[in-house]
Amino acid sequence: MAAAIDASLPNGVESSRKRWEYLESILTKGGPFTDPDSDLGQGTISRLEESKILVIGAGGLGCEILKNLALSGFKDIHVIDMDTIDVSNLNRQFLFREADVGKSKAAVAAAFIEKRVKGVKITPYNGKIQDKDEDYYVQFQLVICGLDSVEARRWINATLVGMVDQENQDSLKPLIDGGTEGFKGQSRVILPTISSCIECQLDLSPPRAAVPLCTLANIPRQPQHCIEWAKIIAWEEHRKGDVIDTDDPEHITWLYHKALDRAQEFKIPGVTYSLTQGVVKHIIPAIASTNAIIAASCCNEALKIVTGCNPFLQNYMQYTGDAGIYTFNMEFEQTPDCPVCGNLPKDLPVDPDSTLQELIESLGARAEAQLKKPTLRTESTSLYSQAPPSLEEQTRPNLEKSLRDLVADGEQIAASDPAFGIDFRFKIVYRS
Ligand SMILES: [Zn+2]
Repeated sequence: MAAAIDASLPNGVESSRKRWEYLESILTKGGPFTDPDSDLGQGTISRLEESKILVIGAGGLGCEILKNLALSGFKDIHVIDMDTIDVSNLNRQFLFREADVGKSKAAVAAAFIEKRVKGVKITPYNGKIQDKDEDYYVQFQLVICGLDSVEARRWINATLVGMVDQENQDSLKPLIDGGTEGFKGQSRVILPTISSCIECQLDLSPPRAAVPLCTLANIPRQPQHCIEWAKIIAWEEHRKGDVIDTDDPEHITWLYHKALDRAQEFKIPGVTYSLTQGVVKHIIPAIASTNAIIAASCCNEALKIVTGCNPFLQNYMQYTGDAGIYTFNMEFEQTPDCPVCGNLPKDLPVDPDSTLQELIESLGARAEAQLKKPTLRTESTSLYSQAPPSLEEQTRPNLEKSLRDLVADGEQIAASDPAFGIDFRFKIVYRS
């Protein structure tokens, strides 16, 4: 839903009322699904102009989101990003120019939008979301995330759920989350404590599975397998002792030729220099059109939620742009054992003869947990503590013990991780 832009006017000049013509039509006339009790017109317009919105992330998605919000008539926007601008951002993060390299993304994006769309105020913060507390987040009507980190999403999700006070409706801050990966993306609307949250849906974003070494060594099926083979096996064989520098073109070229030879041997097409670079550096290509589509969806939801002019997304939209172009919506339900918004502990199937060390390692890999540095305790005792050092030393001997000797079948344990301000509750279930 782009507002009309008067092309006859030079850049930076407010294009009078005409810019907002289509927007006003939506806000005053509504649509076939508009709530009949909605106060279309002055009510919807003033809610839009008076609302204060927080955007998290000023990168590929964030640039699109900030531009869309400003052109949708939002007037008071805050943006948080801890990154500075890199030259590799310039092909798609269109609010940045070469002269901005090294500067704060949030500050440069804010200044650019303010200059181009008169009447909008953008307040940047260059830093981490974890620097801010509830007193900061409570001032916003809603939060839109354009992040590339699962960890940051989980943090803001847990914070917003924790802020909800059932006696005070204003404490509930809708969260709109956009995410893209190559040609795929999704947007979702979360009403903390009321609808399915990011943690409820965590198993949708499992940690990247490693390709088994035997596949690489014996039966490669994809160009990526040939590149991984070159990196892990061929390099070790021919250049042992040399450390791969992913920024060194000679190293990448060497890997590319090795991978290409292997791909030809197994008749696998698709090994290119840039794919080699991507696989070796673990880069997922950022696609500008995917970002544009997902950001547009997020901002449409923001406009509908804030103004009430139309019903909003219930509650997940998936976009696919590689195998054909299509979207579908689905409604996720809250999971009762969600560690953030549920009230039951999550079942944790374990082999009772495995060690505590193995359990801790598995928590990093399990899609439903993804805890890298968990501290574990039962109701009565500490199983393993990552910090402080004295407690770590005291609980370290437990790492070697079998789970059977530490926790009973059906016993509850709590896991905390420095990355999140919450406890995850699990119920140990012995695998027979
Ligand atoms: Zn949840």
